[in-house]
Amino acid sequence: MGSGSYKTRVLVIRKKALRESDLILDALQEDGSLVSFVAKGARKPTNPFASRLELFSVADVCMARGRNLDIVKEARLVDSNERLRTDIDASAVASPIAEALRRCAQKDLEVPHLFEMSRSALLHLDSCERQCMPAITAAALLKLLAFLGMRPSFNRCTVCGTPIDLNAVPSVRFSYESGGAVCSSCVRTLQTISLPSSTCAWCNALMMMTFDTIVHEQIDTNTGFAVLDICRHWFREQLNMKLVSLDCLASWGLF
Ligand SMILES: [Zn+2]
Repeated sequence: MGSGSYKTRVLVIRKKALRESDLILDALQEDGSLVSFVAKGARKPTNPFASRLELFSVADVCMARGRNLDIVKEARLVDSNERLRTDIDASAVASPIAEALRRCAQKDLEVPHLFEMSRSALLHLDSCERQCMPAITAAALLKLLAFLGMRPSFNRCTVCGTPIDLNAVPSVRFSYESGGAVCSSCVRTLQTISLPSSTCAWCNALMMMTFDTIVHEQIDTNTGFAVLDICRHWFREQLNMKLVSLDCLASWGLF
């Protein structure tokens, strides 16, 4: 391997056509940064890259540095995650993870834990029971926000920091624009909506839970979708980021 080449592990989050037979792939690298590269011949079904560099798959690759984009020279499949491409429900719940990564990860910006968390979320979606799927995606999106320093506050007033006891009240005033829950003293100064305390408690819990625990505890579809809805508004109103795949998931009526 010369100085113009390097090895890395990637999680493929987007494929785009480039010329007749080539692809441009966007992927998350092990250090949490985004990389875009060319896979020559990968649009031909018989090309080895076609099956080793699929959407949602993880691969060890050898890359040659190019003038604009790097070019993949070798690829070894690590996680196929085939179900995420062949099962419509699994595909729909995996897509917001890929879209959020594509929008939030950046070239040359390391984000510790982002790769391993995302890889684990997709592996669990590939094998878990259907009812747990929305909760896994909701947890992955909340963890991603936390790693990027953009986590919502659910049990502390986002203005003054006063703790909010989610067990003591049925609902919480919440401001997407201002960063989360708002206490009764600060509520007059802000535009807020009402969220069930139980949903806020689930947001907090899922942000901290491992994916193994979510599967083991069989966190159900309704809980998953309630938290996903908060994530959807959070990305749109706090980050000004409309995640198309999350809107689709909310409106399609799957599960
Ligand atoms: Zn306050």
